[in-house]
Amino acid sequence: MQVINPSTGEPVGEVKEFSRTEVAAVIAAADRALPAWRALSGKERSRTLRRWYDLITEHADELAAIITREQGKPLAEARGEVAYAASFVEWFAEEAKRIRGDVFGSPEPTRRIVVLKEPVGVCAAITPWNFPAAMITRKAAPALAAGCTMVVKPASQTPLTAVRLAELAEQAGIPAGVLTVVTGSAREIGAELTGNPLIRKVTFTGSTEIGRLLLEQSAATVKNTSMELGGNAPVLVFDDADLEVAVAGVLAAKYRNTGQSCIGANRVYVQSGIYDRFAALLATRSASLKVGDGFDPDVQIGPLIDDAAVAKVSEHIADAIAQGASLLTGGTHDGRFYQPTVLAGVVQGMQVTREEIFGPVLPLIRFDDEAEAIRLANDTEFGLAAYLFTRDAARTWRVAAAIEAGMVGINTGLISNEIAPFGGIKQSGLGREGSVYGIDEYLETKYLAWEGA
Ligand code: ADP
Repeated sequence: MQVINPSTGEPVGEVKEFSRTEVAAVIAAADRALPAWRALSGKERSRTLRRWYDLITEHADELAAIITREQGKPLAEARGEVAYAASFVEWFAEEAKRIRGDVFGSPEPTRRIVVLKEPVGVCAAITPWNFPAAMITRKAAPALAAGCTMVVKPASQTPLTAVRLAELAEQAGIPAGVLTVVTGSAREIGAELTGNPLIRKVTFTGSTEIGRLLLEQSAATVKNTSMELGGNAPVLVFDDADLEVAVAGVLAAKYRNTGQSCIGANRVYVQSGIYDRFAALLATRSASLKVGDGFDPDVQIGPLIDDAAVAKVSEHIADAIAQGASLLTGGTHDGRFYQPTVLAGVVQGMQVTREEIFGPVLPLIRFDDEAEAIRLANDTEFGLAAYLFTRDAARTWRVAAAIEAGMVGINTGLISNEIAPFGGIKQSGLGREGSVYGIDEYLETKYLAWEGA
């Protein structure tokens, strides 16, 4: 399978195309590796994961270059992603030592209730191309820390980062079969990963559409699942917001990774009193961003991942304009390089308000009062991230409580880190990644009814 640089269209490498039978053999090997890995103490697993973290950090420049080459994001962002990816390995190396159960009294005086936490078993991860390193470590690190083994299917666009991460894992002393990357056809491999009875857990990051399919396929063998699916993040900018903070926050929440992030700002609701000033400053700042090849140190916006992504963004913009929206800046592209685009006069119901944009497009929607803004923000089947900009503490609590989202950024557009629980509600997903909660996704609860204890 050839890997293409989205910036140049040139091939940058090849990976093996695993057949379904070969994937089944990898799963069997992960199952054979499970007893020894889960039998280690948390401290022993912790040490091995820590070595993986050290190696990722030592190879940060090399990994960042691989990410930029196969994914296109600016090199500085790729370096940021490697640090973010490594942070999950460091964090869960620490958490491996803290897996613990509980002991309760029982209704009968002669008994104790003992609760143990045990690894789920062999896990399968299916990961997307937008964060080729971090979406793997955010799943693999907690799984391995918990004592599970894992088979990872990276996105076909970005398998080289995954293969390199797995080599570093091996170098760190993670035993054969504990973490294996399989590359090839998503449909075939996906069917084996969700159908094979040896897999006890499927963890996925990607579109809601594929998430639904994987849930359906996993239902036949009642697998445990975690799903990080699509988003359609609303941003609420109130009259009392700090204008500079709000503009900087929206720029950060939108343009990271050329707008190809599931928590990216998708719909920007701006209160009437600040609308004109906000729109003007946002458009000026957007227009000043440099678009180009990710290896150019001045570039802030890289290419979109492929031609289908370009067509989708063009369709979104055309739909908005046909329905009366206007361009404040952008709206054009040169091949896969899309200019940052700000659309004014957007109204609820246009495609840009209904669908995940996944490109550098910011639709602005005017609102008058808080209740209306909350109603519009929640008018979606998605519930991943939301952002609000205000200096009023009472409003902050009120709106944060009313917003249907798993994560709310308050006066900031950057919310992801390894200590915070990442995940969505509604059709944006199931479960949480990162944080002290992230390891629970890879642990089962076993209860011992201990008579005479
Ligand atoms: P994106 O919009 O991020 O490409 P997708 O949901 O299409 O989101 O892809 C996310 C991951 O899911 C990728 O690794 C992709 O290869 C994989 N994938 C796509 N289709 C299927 C499928 N039918 N079965 C299993 N995995 C799939």
